[in-house]
Amino acid sequence: MEELVTDILILGSGGAGLFAALQSADADPRISVTLVTKGLVGKSGCTRMVQGGYNVVLNPRDSLELHFKDTLKGGQFINDQELAWLLVSNAPRTVRELETKVGCFFDRDEHGNIHQKPFAGQSFDRTVHRGDLTGIEIISRLREQVFRRQNIKVIEECRAIDLVTNSEGTRIAGAVLLDIRTGQFLLVRAKAILVATGGGARMYKISAPSMEKSGDGVAMAYRVGAVLMDMEMLQFHPTGLLAGNSRLRGSVLEEGLRGAGAYLFNAKGERFMERYDPERKERSTRDVVARSSYMEILGGRGTPDGGVYLDMSHLGAEFVETNFPGMVERVREIGKDLAREPIEVSPTAHFHMGGIRINLNCQSNIEGLFAAGEDAAGVHGANRLGGNGVAESTVFGILSAERMVDYIKDVSSPSSYSQKQVEEIIERAIKPFKLEVNNSESPFALREEIEEMMWQKVGVVRNGNHLKEALEELNVFEERLEKIAISGPKEYNVAWNEVLNLRNILIIAKATALSALLRTESRGSHYREDFPHTDKEWFKNICLQKNGENEFKVFEQPVNFTRMKPEDVLN
Ligand SMILES: Cc1cc2nc3c(=O)[nH]c(=O)nc-3n(C[C@H](O)[C@H](O)[C@H](O)COP(=O)(O)OP(=O)(O)OC[C@H]3O[C@@H](n4cnc5c(N)ncnc54)[C@H](O)[C@@H]3O)c2cc1C
Repeated sequence: MEELVTDILILGSGGAGLFAALQSADADPRISVTLVTKGLVGKSGCTRMVQGGYNVVLNPRDSLELHFKDTLKGGQFINDQELAWLLVSNAPRTVRELETKVGCFFDRDEHGNIHQKPFAGQSFDRTVHRGDLTGIEIISRLREQVFRRQNIKVIEECRAIDLVTNSEGTRIAGAVLLDIRTGQFLLVRAKAILVATGGGARMYKISAPSMEKSGDGVAMAYRVGAVLMDMEMLQFHPTGLLAGNSRLRGSVLEEGLRGAGAYLFNAKGERFMERYDPERKERSTRDVVARSSYMEILGGRGTPDGGVYLDMSHLGAEFVETNFPGMVERVREIGKDLAREPIEVSPTAHFHMGGIRINLNCQSNIEGLFAAGEDAAGVHGANRLGGNGVAESTVFGILSAERMVDYIKDVSSPSSYSQKQVEEIIERAIKPFKLEVNNSESPFALREEIEEMMWQKVGVVRNGNHLKEALEELNVFEERLEKIAISGPKEYNVAWNEVLNLRNILIIAKATALSALLRTESRGSHYREDFPHTDKEWFKNICLQKNGENEFKVFEQPVNFTRMKPEDVLN
């Protein structure tokens, strides 16, 4: 097997991965950086899908304190306050760097200042944007910069399948990669590794994130003993497009549409948000709108395709087409006209607040293993504010790079690694080729079943019985997955890659269902119909760690109100 040695290995080329690569490379041209991505640089991940924009304090009438308070309120006070503070206090310099160093250009107001628009849950209009396609601007410019750096080696369409540690399991040593194009394995040894694979909300029937994501980073970190946190906290965006079984199913119609005055109707023509939140109606927070829509659908008042209607036609076609060209275009792809007719939408799985627990150095409990962006937990608590996601990935991309550059100063060479561990990783990866193909089920069909079950039992509205059933069913899915046989060449073998995806998805799904079962209250994105109230006894984070082959060690961690108590924010 080919072996490569590098100072810093970065997994993922979203906002976090690309910014981390750039920042590490620029810190010292002698540092070698290897950037590995499952997709293509500039074309993969969710950062490029960012529509609405980026939350940052730029206006002197706004303040970091206000942004911080909004973030805690959104997170229902279980955020790691120090990580949340790092987010808000570093966002201004990051946006400046995005413009001055990376070459992004955000929309301006009539005075030439960066324009900032309103977004849900904010006490000040602080969302920076480039039209309604902000992510493409950020990722395209980052890509240009990364390809200009001599000390960054980029490996595309190559997936990390597992991390490798020293034989004690305490220190990171490298990662085993699978080159999707050739089917060959590659071992990369590194002094520090950043996991930035962007989380994995693609375990639900209706979901928004990019197709290639399957929770790989979080699952890999879990397998080497990293602590996961807040896994029950999964955000559903209220307005995912319903588009049959096409790839557009679940893709997001951005929050700005409701901000601009779009209405939501059920199949009976009722503007149902008037009942659930008479004051804010459609402008209520994501969790409330998503849950209300879901209740309407469950209550038999859904549309023929199982959704509700989003209607902007009363705002005038010209207004809609001028202000939301990207959204109009997206809807046109399914033959509908956002500016002139109601569109069927449904809640869609959008963002995982949970992930790898990190400290202020962006480091996990495994020496040398760092995480940033959606793979990391803590910043958003129980619910992420729209606009804080891309801020997180870029801010923590920079911060993790600074921390890794510091960290490797004291590390003379990559840690020694366990040869046995590497052999086991490869053996396990190729196992499906050694099984009998006759009568083997399809991984794609299995995935559909998993997604359907997760949607029904671990979705927008949860209860204890469903969650217990889900955990049992996930165990059965795991057994079935182990029996799936794969044939054909290893090059671009989509079915094989799906098996590898499902191994990770099932870990994330189990961690989500288990944490959701344990949290006997409702908070933020986590709603239990059997425990519908928020309980102050639950100012805690649920943490999970691998314990033996197929078991989770569970522990709770009280929230440390290091900067503000809930009452300081609410009063
Ligand atoms: C439709 C949509 C709209 C959004 N709009 C907004 C918004 O307006 N504002 C906002 O703040 N946030 C928004 N978000 C959230 C935002 O996109 C994320 O918070 C953030 O961009 C995640 O960045 P990331 O770098 O962590 O991951 P990503 O940008 O998702 O990148 C992950 C990368 O990891 C790679 N990868 C995956 N697995 C592997 C592997 N095994 N090995 C190697 N590489 C791997 C992927 O190919 C990809 O390159 C939106 C999300 C979606 C889905």
